[in-house]
Amino acid sequence: MSTDCDVLVVGAGISGLVTAFELQQRGLRVEVLEAGRRAGGMIGTRQRDGARYELGPNSILDSTPLIDDLLRRLDIIDQRVNASAVAARRFVIRNAHPVALPASPGAFLTTRAFSTSAKLRLLREPFIAPASPDAEESIAAFARRRLGAEFLEYGVDPFVAGIYAGDPEKISVAAAFPRLRALEQEHGSLIKGQIANRRERARHGETAKISTGSFSFRHGMQTLPDALARATTTLQVDTAVERITAAANETFTLSARRGGETMTRSARAVVLAVPAGAAAALVDPLDGEAARSLSAIGYPALAVVASVYRRMAIAHRLDGFGFLVPRAEGRRILGCLFSSSTFAGRAPENSVLLTTFAGGRRNPEIAALDSESVARVVTEELGSLLGCTEAPRWQEVVHWPRAIPQYTLGHLSRMHAIDDLEAGLPGLHFCASYRDGVSVGDRIKAAHATAARIAERVKR
Ligand SMILES: Cc1cc2nc3c(=O)[nH]c(=O)nc-3n(C[C@H](O)[C@H](O)[C@H](O)COP(=O)(O)OP(=O)(O)OC[C@H]3O[C@@H](n4cnc5c(N)ncnc54)[C@H](O)[C@@H]3O)c2cc1C
Repeated sequence: MSTDCDVLVVGAGISGLVTAFELQQRGLRVEVLEAGRRAGGMIGTRQRDGARYELGPNSILDSTPLIDDLLRRLDIIDQRVNASAVAARRFVIRNAHPVALPASPGAFLTTRAFSTSAKLRLLREPFIAPASPDAEESIAAFARRRLGAEFLEYGVDPFVAGIYAGDPEKISVAAAFPRLRALEQEHGSLIKGQIANRRERARHGETAKISTGSFSFRHGMQTLPDALARATTTLQVDTAVERITAAANETFTLSARRGGETMTRSARAVVLAVPAGAAAALVDPLDGEAARSLSAIGYPALAVVASVYRRMAIAHRLDGFGFLVPRAEGRRILGCLFSSSTFAGRAPENSVLLTTFAGGRRNPEIAALDSESVARVVTEELGSLLGCTEAPRWQEVVHWPRAIPQYTLGHLSRMHAIDDLEAGLPGLHFCASYRDGVSVGDRIKAAHATAARIAERVKR
């Protein structure tokens, strides 16, 4: 059985790049085909007038030792920069003002982010019975039941907007926050489970996402895909895969468009590291049900606005990571990162860089506006929430028409259709952000696991 290579990876976002790198490291012949002009997918850094801003992810949560292990092998560990100490403080908007979220149980007692009745309600949490293991609940229903309505509004809702740009009434707790559900099922309570798991994690050298630090790179997030692309000898950009054919001898042929020409490549395994819609189009001829499941995964639009202000034009001290906005506050933005407070070298001297997110499931009409209008909305909102006395020096707007996959109710059964297709067609693999987590850390972990599974089969 002679093929062009061992594994074809479709898509050079972080999922595809890490999968390809890990396969190469295991001695397999890999080729990566990417439709866009550059590697990195949603990860990208740009510079303008002495500032450095991110198009997509701004930082990576240090949630697994696999991340540093990867950076060491890529020889970019010395480029890594941790978020500043001040970034440990995170704000939530309450009554139109940024209020610091409590960073310790002691601070929780005195915080203005939650009312006394919300704090008292939380004391009941350990005594609330877990849901039936078969029940599928939204994160909103879960939070309301265990933590109370106010904790949902000011604690959970802004985080769901911050991670998924999503609607907590639609997002499945089991699919999107499996650890929360496991805490409830295994320990009967989030608070009791949290205490028990802290001990367990310490034994495995892992840190909880909620308490862990985040990092970027001296020259921005682009450092990571650039290093992966350099290490991946057979990456072809401007190459859009259009069709997959599976042969009876467990090999695959891909057809792709490159510069107006059609090319074909064959391999013993294929990894689809592309968003759900693109994966659906490719697998439709192989398995209609899997294609329908993939098509059902929604991706709301999001606008990311980089704004550079004179430091003296903003009244707020910007002494934190940024703020998130609860839906109950009725604003037109989801949140804002104090980018130049978190990482050095992001804005010119005496200036600050703020990165604001707007749109998502909450305000789709904002993400649909033209760049000038989005920038105006962001300027107005930042003006009132942070006390800006001048307009920004400049702004850049990045539109993501399909930003983040929504792990909504029914997501786990949709994933079963993908599992079934993988089991029925050995050698076909799915590794992208609609499966096993959207964060860059989750993608690295999933890519690592995908590469290990493929290597085991292909090397046999
Ligand atoms: C605005 C924003 C902010 C974010 N912030 C953070 C953050 O701070 N921290 C964090 O951890 N995560 C963050 N995320 C999430 C994280 O960035 C993404 O989940 C992750 O980068 C997705 O990687 P991926 O490789 O799965 O997909 P993608 O990056 O989407 O890559 C898929 C690739 O497949 C290619 N492709 C598509 N179709 C084809 C085809 N037919 N043939 C060939 N190639 C194809 C695409 O061109 C693309 O390059 C953010 C996401 C967004 C949008």
